[in-house]
Amino acid sequence: MIVGSGPAGWSAAIYAARANLKPLLFEGAITEENRLNGTLPLGQLALTTEVENYAGFPAGVLSQFLKTAIDEKRQRMMAPITDHEHAVTGPELMELMRQQALNFGTRVVTDDVVDVDLDNRPFKVHTLEGQTVETHTLIVATGAKANYLGLPSEEAYKNRGVSACAVCDGALPRFRNQPLVVVGGGDSAIEEATYLSKYASRVYLVHRRDELRASKIMQQRAFDNQKLEIVWNHVVDEALGDEQQGLTAVRLKSTVDDSHREVQASGMFLAIGHTPNTGFLKGKLQMTDKGYIKWTSHFRTYTSVEGVFAAGDVADDYYRQAITSAGTGCMAALDAERYLAEHGL
Ligand code: NAP
Repeated sequence: MIVGSGPAGWSAAIYAARANLKPLLFEGAITEENRLNGTLPLGQLALTTEVENYAGFPAGVLSQFLKTAIDEKRQRMMAPITDHEHAVTGPELMELMRQQALNFGTRVVTDDVVDVDLDNRPFKVHTLEGQTVETHTLIVATGAKANYLGLPSEEAYKNRGVSACAVCDGALPRFRNQPLVVVGGGDSAIEEATYLSKYASRVYLVHRRDELRASKIMQQRAFDNQKLEIVWNHVVDEALGDEQQGLTAVRLKSTVDDSHREVQASGMFLAIGHTPNTGFLKGKLQMTDKGYIKWTSHFRTYTSVEGVFAAGDVADDYYRQAITSAGTGCMAALDAERYLAEHGL
């Protein structure tokens, strides 16, 4: 059984299905709560636009391939497939992965896993719709969600200037030669700001304190970057813009006095951390203090419970790329297959 429907889940399913294990994959439920949390089926990639860094998908006219590769019913649920000249989009890539897993016999259930019993074998998995399913082995690939500030105006400009992934979105035309804002003071914020400074006219790094959390080497990189200006002791108060242009500016509030200031920006990138989707596993598997599942063996997807494997962002707060998630999904399927064989299951 596989829980999660991002690159890790589908890659695990493709490998498990091709090993004749007939995987059952819980892709998540389609609920308003999941929409608001950014945890709908198909994961974080379904929330992005172009994916230019997933090997195998160079820019080109992909429409004919997409029309023949993806089931017609699912095509009707997707944004219309047009003759676009860019690389594959996040939602298209996820539909392709899903279809590939189905083609080899993966059974897909559109439901959330809400509780698990890992104390007894076979394991028991309980779903939101009230089903209980037994399984000898479990691959957890439920990913993580980017943290946002929680402002309504921020929500309004998501994908129209507001993003939580500079590497995914930074090279888009709307951000080129424009001033941009990055929020956060950790390694991710500096990495994102440094990356964005290649395209932007100026990058404002907005941090709520007067000291960065990032490692010294990353801090130095920020201080040395001529295009990067650190706005100390400020938080974002409001995302500003209009219907036509999307985000155009950001209003900042001082954390040391009552002053406000406005910064023109065509983009606001949040780098204030991620939250792994492990709520249903609390107390059942060893986790880091931030709630990520711990891999218990070097270069294996093993967890603290034998027979349970973790893949993708749910166990990785460091790389967090589609391609690394897909890689660990493959590893988890191979680990699960060997575990089943060794135990004669
Ligand atoms: P992080 O280290 O937890 O930093 C999050 C930053 O966001 C902090 O500066 C925090 O401010 C700020 N923040 C959190 N909530 C906020 C809010 N509501 N409003 C405003 N600011 C807020 O997260 P990360 O940068 O994503 O890094 C995660 C891990 O990955 C770290 O261990 C990091 O070293 C690692 N990483 C490494 C690299 C690299 O080495 N190249 C790159 C990326 C990530 P405070 O500082 O005031 O708490």
